[in-house]
Amino acid sequence: MTNRAIELALSKDSLDKTDIVAILSATDRQDLHAIRDRASEVLKQYCGDEVYFRGLVEFSNECVNNCIYCGIRLGNPNVQRYLLSEDDIVASALWCADKGYGSVVLQSGERHDRQFVELVERSVRRIKNESRSERLPSGLGITLCVGEQKREDYERFFAAGAHRYLLRIESSSPELYARIHPANQKWDDRLACLRWLREIGFQVGTGVMIGLPTQTLQHLADDILFFREIDVDMIGMGPYIPHNETPLAADHAEYGWQTEDAYRTALLMIAAARIALKDINIAATTALQALRPLGREEGLNFGANVVMPQLTPMDVRRNYLLYEGKPCLDESAEQCLDCLETRIRSIGRRVGCDAWGDSRHALARGARADTTARS
Ligand code: SF4
Repeated sequence: MTNRAIELALSKDSLDKTDIVAILSATDRQDLHAIRDRASEVLKQYCGDEVYFRGLVEFSNECVNNCIYCGIRLGNPNVQRYLLSEDDIVASALWCADKGYGSVVLQSGERHDRQFVELVERSVRRIKNESRSERLPSGLGITLCVGEQKREDYERFFAAGAHRYLLRIESSSPELYARIHPANQKWDDRLACLRWLREIGFQVGTGVMIGLPTQTLQHLADDILFFREIDVDMIGMGPYIPHNETPLAADHAEYGWQTEDAYRTALLMIAAARIALKDINIAATTALQALRPLGREEGLNFGANVVMPQLTPMDVRRNYLLYEGKPCLDESAEQCLDCLETRIRSIGRRVGCDAWGDSRHALARGARADTTARS
């Protein structure tokens, strides 16, 4: 791919698959800088320069699934399982409100039993009620990331006050998805969940892993087109990092991507998604920082505008290892916040405080949003 193809792609308002592949193929420093600068320009024009925090509470690593890339899959006997109490979940979220984050993400492995669904519903309702204040009249913005659930359970979560939902498709290619999941986990089921979430009224986020064995740039370009087609509000994606206690790690050792390629392509995916989808929210994920100390800052420079500082209590944080080398395991929530604020200021961006930080894309669609946001 020539520089000319990249130049042409960056001059367009609407990217097609050829343009996206050209962007994802960049390796030359000058091309990478041109792509980064274009993504920043689009970000500033459509979203401004604020970075929004979502305090991340990984409240349980119990999971009924066996995704073959995941360190906390049901079949890994070496994981010490935990489930935070309702009071601990609510306390972590309220800490977040107190520090001015504006939004929280409740994330866990996947369970479908009544006890679990009710715990999520009750926690959401309590967080919403107990976090209302003069600074946050609508209470905390609540994002859920608890996997595939029944439509009526998604409806209960929405009614309780959650307004965003993250459900990664992992790959928009049904064939690639089938290679990294057991036969009982179907791509069509995940897509159906994404559709229900949107119909119910959630702001919907999805994402993919970058650098999976056998994955190509064509697959990744199709992922960006898929995000546009299903009209997502948020994207969270990062490099695939193997976990030694998973079946996919052996495939990775044999024919996986080089770390450098996965890292660079993850940044280029953020940039391509920003240029193609413009006004959505994109997270700079911790997986970027796991590969490079300044990975999250680079993610922000390539067009991301959301970061998710760790609020998971430190005594259980080590048990939520989806991949190896996860950063911030030994920093308290307070240290994590200080460190992130400094990092964000160091790249000339501002932290958006006391606001949900909804994607402008969702606001333009009229989704449930923080009507009291100041910015
Ligand atoms: S990726 Fe999620 S659903 Fe799959 S095994 Fe891991 S925690 Fe469970």
